[in-house]
Amino acid sequence: ATFADLGLSQWLVDTCEALGMKCPTAVQRRCIPRALAGEDVLGIAQTGSGKTAAFALPILHRLGEDPYGVAALALAPTRELAAQLAEQFRALGAPLGIRCLAAIGGFESLGQAKGLARRPHVVVATPGRIATLVKDDPDLAKVFARTKFLVLDEADRVLDVNFEEELRVIFSCLPKKRQTFLFSATMSDNLRSLLELSGNKSYFFEA
Ligand code: AMP
Repeated sequence: ATFADLGLSQWLVDTCEALGMKCPTAVQRRCIPRALAGEDVLGIAQTGSGKTAAFALPILHRLGEDPYGVAALALAPTRELAAQLAEQFRALGAPLGIRCLAAIGGFESLGQAKGLARRPHVVVATPGRIATLVKDDPDLAKVFARTKFLVLDEADRVLDVNFEEELRVIFSCLPKKRQTFLFSATMSDNLRSLLELSGNKSYFFEA
């Protein structure tokens, strides 16, 4: 299968090609058609499997169709991983002029609050930082009212680091009607709790 066979817009097929992505990986073949069909997805997949593009591409596809109506929030357990996600969203979404904000601890939060108020297409964050931003300024919570996609990357580790309270705060800002994509290296009790907490009604696959 090619990226075009999976149902992605031509501009994304061209972007993948330009970035050296010629054939979809197994994770991408399993995930992308389901995500484009509007389903929640739970993928057991390792780093290096192409999982980031597996969730970023369908999100960017929808953004290309409706740049004003679609927004995504991607949560990761560490700053490093969040920064990598933001980088991939920016590279793959460059032809769209995508606005992607990385809201991560360790950098000053005032700039991130201002960035959030400008309503980026994609917010990539660690849960702690986002929860702090919306608790400090309830107006910022409204920014997430039109979120169509929630991504939890390395989801088992997201709960590992005791983000549960922050996650409850964040999920309460999101609309009920949305798609949720969970990716994890392992199936664990943490992951089962997170499935419940996030309301994920998933198509499950193991790559
Ligand atoms: P990830 O598993 O998301 O951390 O991706 C690992 C690396 O694989 C990233 O640097 C991607 O740019 C690259 N990659 C993702 N999908 C493909 C693909 N279909 N073909 C070639 N490289 C890819």
